[in-house]
This record gives sequence, structure tokens and C-alpha cells, in this order.
Amino acid sequence: MKNWAGNLTFSAKECIEIDSTSELQSIVSKASGIKVLATGHSFNDIADTAQTQISIKNLSNEIEIDATNKVALVPAGMQYADVCRYIEKKGWALFNTASLGEITVAGAVLTGTHGSGSGNPVLSDCVDGIEMVLASGDLYSIAREDSEEFPGFVVSLGALGVFTRLRLKIVESFSIRQFVYENIGIQSIAENFDAVFDKAYSVSYFSNWKKNTTGQIWMKFLDDNNLPQLPTVWLDGNIANAKQHPVKVNDPSPCTDQMGTSGKWLYRLPHFKLDSSPASGDEVQTEYLVDRSHVSEYIAELSNIGDEIADRVYATEIRTIQSDDLWLSGAYGRQTVGFHFTWKKSESLANFLAKIEEILGKHAGRPHWGKLLSTSQEELAGRYPKYSSFEELLKKYDPSKKFRNSFINRYFINY
Ligand SMILES: Cc1cc2nc3c(=O)[nH]c(=O)nc-3n(C[C@H](O)[C@H](O)[C@H](O)COP(=O)(O)OP(=O)(O)OC[C@H]3O[C@@H](n4cnc5c(N)ncnc54)[C@H](O)[C@@H]3O)c2cc1C
Repeated sequence: MKNWAGNLTFSAKECIEIDSTSELQSIVSKASGIKVLATGHSFNDIADTAQTQISIKNLSNEIEIDATNKVALVPAGMQYADVCRYIEKKGWALFNTASLGEITVAGAVLTGTHGSGSGNPVLSDCVDGIEMVLASGDLYSIAREDSEEFPGFVVSLGALGVFTRLRLKIVESFSIRQFVYENIGIQSIAENFDAVFDKAYSVSYFSNWKKNTTGQIWMKFLDDNNLPQLPTVWLDGNIANAKQHPVKVNDPSPCTDQMGTSGKWLYRLPHFKLDSSPASGDEVQTEYLVDRSHVSEYIAELSNIGDEIADRVYATEIRTIQSDDLWLSGAYGRQTVGFHFTWKKSESLANFLAKIEEILGKHAGRPHWGKLLSTSQEELAGRYPKYSSFEELLKKYDPSKKFRNSFINRYFINY
């Protein structure tokens, strides 16, 4: 079996679909090595194991909404598309989404998956409580309000146990209007970074970094009374009057509606419609989450190798993310910018990634845990102030090391 991108063949000796929590507890307690495979949208071996790989998608499909406390108890193995549709039907919303709805809630939360918005933290940040099965097979619940360890559990890479249900903070349903500006050069973005990225609820800049070419700004505005008057010409570009795909030459029909038509959050915040797949899987991705205060330096250095990047990518995206307190989150403790690359598969990519890492790893830039990364353990450890605290959690909650795999062994060596 392979991951979504097909760049990794899993090495599990068995794959089991779990049907009940008691079955899950029994399998976990007896296993010597075990990992959950969710939708396999990660590009590295984070979900791999040589032992037992399990799917929990059949565990439950019931969502409970607590309107008084504004939280939803959600099955961890449920895909965002299903979660979003259900809670919208009940009049509620999540504060943000990733670019697509196919991924599961646990898979996204555990890797610090994010959307965009200077005031929007990673999706993991709306987790308020976790229900899980520990290595012993025992059920365990942990909530933000009653444990100092909680910020270490949320983005925990599947290394502390199997998440079964997550309590997510919800907000009242809202609407979004999405506009695209095209023909915007990267220099304009560098010179007007705050003006661009703080202009709307969620903003993304797509380009291929080629010198003297331009890109698109996608802006998602809250559809409220504060919607600004948008000029038809802005910076060095113009507002698009036809629907766009992030890769200009591609068919835009899978993309969510643009040109300012109002739509509910779940039909506008993801770049791609909930029932469509953004791509065939013939790609791999890398992303670095960097300190926003150094953004001009990163843009200047990436621009210097812009033509080399353009030769290798389908698309790239810049997003902003609000600071959080989750120990292994890419946005831990600082306002963050995400530099994302959707690469064409190629033999020479690994060498080129080292070049990207050299630039974006500066000032403690952190790689996305679910994408390709070339950072060494030593470098990585120095970029997360709570790295050793997380290793203490590994020691305490997985003493028999059954949730270890090659990925965890590579990056967490002191437990
Ligand atoms: C087309 C595409 C678009 C993407 N867009 C974005 C984006 O907009 N923003 C962004 O930040 N990232 C994005 N990603 C990356 C993606 O969000 C992450 O790789 C995410 O982890 C994938 O979720 P998944 O459900 O497929 O989990 P998997 O890849 O299957 O698993 C991820 C990790 O979580 C563990 N895990 C999963 N479920 C459980 C559980 N219940 N209990 C314990 N451990 C568990 C797995 O063992 C593994 O360690 C994208 C990826 C793709 C392929």
C-alpha cells in the first residue's frame, strides 16, 4: 500500500480496520509496534511502521455538539469534509480549514496542519480535549483546562497513542467572499507583506518564483459589514474577472467559488471544493514555517534561486499563521509565515530540498511534519523550545516504544 502521493510504500506486516474501541484497546495493548494510517496524505514516513498499521475510520461517525460550551466532540478518524458539512448543518463552523477537505481531523491536528490568516492559528489550536488509547490499551482523556501537558499532546505526531475523539472549539456559522488578484509580482508581496496578508480573514499568494513572472493573491473576506471596497487595480496587478486555479493553466472548476460570491465558510475557506481532489497525487510537497519578522530576507533569498524553483514546481503558496502554544507546532511562540512548495517528482529533488532548507531553516525555520523534510535531528531539536519536554512525554506515555517508527526514531533520539 502507498501514501496519497505514491512516493512511499508502507512497510507494515499487517493492516487492520478497527470496528470498536474495545477492539482498538485490545490490539494496541498486544502490539509491539503500531501506527494509525489515516488518509495517508503525508509525504514522508510519519505514518509508516514495520509492524501493525491500523485504520480507525469505521470506529464512529457520530458528532456531538455542545452548544452551551461551543465545542463539538468529533471522531478522530473522520475527514474534515464530513465534519464541516455536519456542523454547518447544525449552524456552526470551524474557524479555518486546510486547502482541502479529504484529510482526517486527527491526521491534520497531529502534524500541525494549517490554513491561512494572520489571526488564524494552526487547525490543531482549536482542539480543546482529546480522548485516546494509550500504549497500555487504557482509555485516556486530557483537556486543555486540566493539564500542563496538554500543549504537548495536540501536535504529537501520533507518537503518544491513538486519538479516538477530539473536542473542537466551534463558532457560529459565517460566510466568506473570495477574490483573486492576478499579475502580482513577488517584489510587490515583499514590499507590501503586511498590507497584503493582513487585508483579509485568510490570504494566500501563489506563484512559481520564476524571475519576472507574476502570481495570484487569493483573499477570503468575512462577509460582514466590514467588507472593504476593492479596487480593480491593486499593487502591480488587477482583480481577476474569471475563476482562477493556483496553477494558471489548470482547469479552475475544482476550486471554490471566487469573484466575491458569498458562500458559507466550508465552501470558501478550502481552496478546493470539499468533494473534489486538488490533484492526481503526482506531486510531493515541502513547507517551512518561519518567523514572520524575517520574511523579507526569506523572500529575497528564494527570489535569488527563483528560476531553479520554477523548473521544479507545479505551484508554491505563501500563507500566514498566528502564533500558538502547542509544543511541536510550526507556529509555536511566534507569528509565522508558511512557504509551501508543490514539487514535480524527480530524482534530483532531494539535493534541491537541501538548498531550500538552507534558506528556510535560518532563524529556526521549522519544517511541516507531514511533508518532505531534509532537516537533521540536531537542527530540528534546536528549533523547538519545548523539544525536550516532548521527549519527556514520549518516555512517560510510550515506555514500551510501540508508537515509535523510523520517523520518530530519526527525530527523537533521547528517549
Ligand atoms: C493535496 C494535499 C494538500 C494538503 N494541504 C495542506 C494544507 O493546506 N495545510 C497543511 O498544513 N497541510 C496540508 N497538507 C498536509 C496534510 O495536512 C498532512 O500531511 C496531514 O497529516 C495529512 O492527514 P491524514 O489524515 O492524511 O494523516 P496521515 O498522513 O495518514 O497521518 C499523519 C500522522 O498522524 C498519525 N495519525 C493519524 N490519525 C491518528 C490517530 N487517530 N491517532 C494517532 N495517530 C494518528 C499517523 O500515524 C501519522 O503519524 C496537504 C497534503 C496533501 C496531500
